[in-house]
Amino acid sequence: MGFLDKLRKAFTGDEPAKKADTAKSMGDPNGIMLYFRCNKCGSLVRVRVDRRNDLNSEDGPGYYVVRKDVMDSKCFQMMKAEIWLDVSYGIVQANVRGGSLITEEEYKAAQIPPTPAS
Ligand SMILES: [Zn+2]
Repeated sequence: MGFLDKLRKAFTGDEPAKKADTAKSMGDPNGIMLYFRCNKCGSLVRVRVDRRNDLNSEDGPGYYVVRKDVMDSKCFQMMKAEIWLDVSYGIVQANVRGGSLITEEEYKAAQIPPTPAS
């Protein structure tokens, strides 16, 4: 066993708790997930908003505003979303033309459970 192997082993010891924390922090620290439902066909769409790129600070009901054109994969109707967030990225107000903003719970509850691979 070489020196590097020993070093590597020292750093990758049995520390499951630490490992989990690392995975969490490396997930998507700048991503905010928004969920929409199409008014026309009822399709649900998940959109990722990037805190660094998609948020604008403007005067309005919130501190940040994000404007997104959202299209579902069923009827392809464009939903025009304007979402206002506070300083801690909580949703203050959502104006969605052609659809509505839903919660992550609503989105997950409506998903069809994946079929087993076998
Ligand atoms: Zn639709």
